[in-house]
Amino acid sequence: MENIDQLKTLLAIPKDIVITSHRNPDGDAIGSSLAMYRYLNTQGHTVRVIFPSEYPDFVAWLPGAEDIIIHDIEPEKADEVVQRADLIFCLDYNSLDRIDKLGETIGAQNDATLVMIDHHLYPDIQAEFQLSVTSASSTCELVYDFIKMMDDLKVIDKDLGECLMTGILTDTGSFKYSTSPRLFRVVAHLLEIGVDDYKLQDLIFNSQQEKHLRLLGHCLKNRMEIIEEYQTGIIWLNRRDYEQFDIQRGDTEGIVNYLLKLKNVKIAAFITEQPTIVKLSLRSKGDISVQKIAQDHFKGGGHKNAAGGSSYGTLRGTINRLKQILPQYHQELLKQ
Ligand code: 5GP
Ligand code: MN
Repeated sequence: MENIDQLKTLLAIPKDIVITSHRNPDGDAIGSSLAMYRYLNTQGHTVRVIFPSEYPDFVAWLPGAEDIIIHDIEPEKADEVVQRADLIFCLDYNSLDRIDKLGETIGAQNDATLVMIDHHLYPDIQAEFQLSVTSASSTCELVYDFIKMMDDLKVIDKDLGECLMTGILTDTGSFKYSTSPRLFRVVAHLLEIGVDDYKLQDLIFNSQQEKHLRLLGHCLKNRMEIIEEYQTGIIWLNRRDYEQFDIQRGDTEGIVNYLLKLKNVKIAAFITEQPTIVKLSLRSKGDISVQKIAQDHFKGGGHKNAAGGSSYGTLRGTINRLKQILPQYHQELLKQ
């Protein structure tokens, strides 16, 4: 962020600030938002956090989660708060179409200054202030950087550190992806100020209910297809599965990653039938870009090795479409 000094000047006077993150917020979305919420509160601003939709239970214990406004539940309140804002922070997303109706309200709010902090490819928000670093592990890592640029690292206490650590743990799959020496330096600092990484791992990853493991078993036994020729694995769920297993938001988190445990699988797809769309969650190993597959064929985006998109076709039609486009990526698979 080259114009950080300008932002420092703006933030030197108490402001009305709204922090937003993407639909179906994950650990990084909520961790980065609540970390920024705590930081800006310490600086004397009036701060509200708004998400388009509800957050999953495994992050409900995070300090400040109870203050979040959910646009799906309180649309008028959320819109009113956005309309009053002097500054709007966009965290962990880079296109207003990732936040549905909330995006329309922000798009129509011409008086607020936008600040985007994100690590996804191809930013598409006209923000006056942008910290867009696609090599960063998580938006939480970038919120740490932002606080450092503001010369306020001393403000990071244990609670704020727990918020940051949550997004780092979830977006790196507990340090399996997108790690770097500087990420480990950030993490070392967080541990030094008292963040308990074991406790967080337990709260985030060992909080499942019996139905989650039953669902996982069903996915692996009955819903998994391996396409050897294209080193691709697919797991799909239809509407009936959603009813049978009482699947709620967040319950399918992480299932796609099981496909990558297979040595010969380089592309993993988790495809689910939602009320109005079919949603795709894509993962890959090495140089294969699922971001490109998501963007070119499923109106989506994300990162090279983790992306998502959607389709208005049927579940079967979407699975077939994915299978049809795999030959295009065959050459890249052969290189691996
Ligand atoms: P997940 O598969 O965990 O839902 O998402 C993986 C990554 O892809 C996330 O970084 C998420 O932001 C991105 N992503 C998921 N769905 C979409 C989508 O529909 N559009 C875009 N642009 N990105 C998506
Ligand atoms: Mn993220």
